[in-house]
Amino acid sequence: MLETKNLNVVYTSGSSLSFKKKRIVAVEDVSLKIQKGKTLGLVGESGCGKSTLGRAILGLVPIESGSIFLDEEPIHEKSRKEWLPIRKKIQVIFQDPYSSLNPRMTIEEIISEGLIVHFPGLNKLKIRELVATILNKVNLSTNILQRYPHEFSGGQRQRIAIARALVLEPELVVCDEAVSALDISTQASVINLLKELKSMLNLSYLFISHDLGIVRYISDFIAVMYLGRIIEYGNKNDLINNPKHPYTKALFSSSFDIKNRDKERVVIKGEIPSVLDKPKGCHFHTRCPIAKDICRVESPPKVDSEGDNWTFCHFPMSNK
Ligand code: SF4
Repeated sequence: MLETKNLNVVYTSGSSLSFKKKRIVAVEDVSLKIQKGKTLGLVGESGCGKSTLGRAILGLVPIESGSIFLDEEPIHEKSRKEWLPIRKKIQVIFQDPYSSLNPRMTIEEIISEGLIVHFPGLNKLKIRELVATILNKVNLSTNILQRYPHEFSGGQRQRIAIARALVLEPELVVCDEAVSALDISTQASVINLLKELKSMLNLSYLFISHDLGIVRYISDFIAVMYLGRIIEYGNKNDLINNPKHPYTKALFSSSFDIKNRDKERVVIKGEIPSVLDKPKGCHFHTRCPIAKDICRVESPPKVDSEGDNWTFCHFPMSNK
C-alpha cells in the first residue's frame, strides 16, 4: 500500500554563514513496503533516523532523493496544496499527548477540525455524528465534547489523539512513539485499542518505537534501522527467532521475552557512532562481533531470505 524506494533525507548542520556545513544523511537509501491491513514495526536505537523516516512519509520533511508511493501513486513530488487529499489518507499519532492537542480547543473542535477541512460540505449534525461514532470506537463518552485537553489523563488524551487521526478514515497511521510517554498500564490499554481498531477498520500502521516488547506484540512485520539504513526487514516471527543480521540478533536478545528466557544474550559493545561521522562500509562494523576486512570498506549487499525477508550484511547468519 505504501512503498519507499531508495529514499534519502539529508540535513545540513551549521549556520547558513558557516563554511563548515556538514551533510547529515538521516535516512539513507531506504526501500520499504507497508502492506494493507498490516503493522510494520520500525525499531532502532535513539537517533537512528526512525522518526525522520516517519516524517518523510508524512510529507513533513523534504526528501533529497528517492520516491514514496501511496497506492502506487507517487506522492514525493506533490506540492503543499496537492498534499491535502493525501493528508486524509495518512494520519499521525505523536508521542506526547500533552503537547499534541491544542489546549484552547474543546475536544469536539479538536476531533472535528479535520472533517471541516477535508469535507467542507458536511453539515454540523453529520460532523457531530461522526465525532460521536469515533469517540465510541476509542471507548470515550460524548459527555467530554465540550471539555478541554487539560481535564484528561495521558491515556485519555492519547485516545482523543487516536480519535482525531481516525475520524478521517485514513489508510495508514504513523504512530511515532505513540505510547512511550504513558505509564505501563495505560500503554497496554492504548496498544490493545490500536490493535482492535486496526482489525475493525482495516488500517495499516507504521509503528515507530524503541520499545522492543511493544513492537514484538503489535507488529506483523519489523524493519530494523541503524544509522539511517534499514539493515533487516522481515516477518515478525522470522526476524525475531531467526535474525540474519548481527545487530538484529543483539537487539532482540537484549529484550526480555518469557518464551526465550533461556536464549543466549548477545551484548553489543561500544556506543552508536555519530550520524555526523558514520563508519565507512557497513555502518555497524565498529560494533559487530563478526566484522571482517571487507565490512570496513564495502557497503554490504542486500541478501534475500525466505518469504519477503531480507538483510544487508556480507556474512548473514543462520540460527537454524
Ligand atoms: Fe557485521 Fe560485516 Fe555484516 Fe556489517 S556486514 S553486520 S560488519 S558481518
